[in-house]
Amino acid sequence: MTVSKSNKAKCITCNKEFNITLKTKPFCSKRCSYVDLNNWLGEKYAIEANENDYDKDI
Ligand SMILES: [Zn+2]
Repeated sequence: MTVSKSNKAKCITCNKEFNITLKTKPFCSKRCSYVDLNNWLGEKYAIEANENDYDKDI
């Protein structure tokens, strides 16, 4: 593996690199933020929920 540049970070959900300027940080995507949120809540929440839900603020 190569060393990441300073504007890259790893998604804490899926470990994928993404640009830290993304609004979804520290996640690579809203989907991953949902995954983490669901983990925090400890609830079995359907990740593949309505795509419109992804537009809500997190
Ligand atoms: Zn991710």
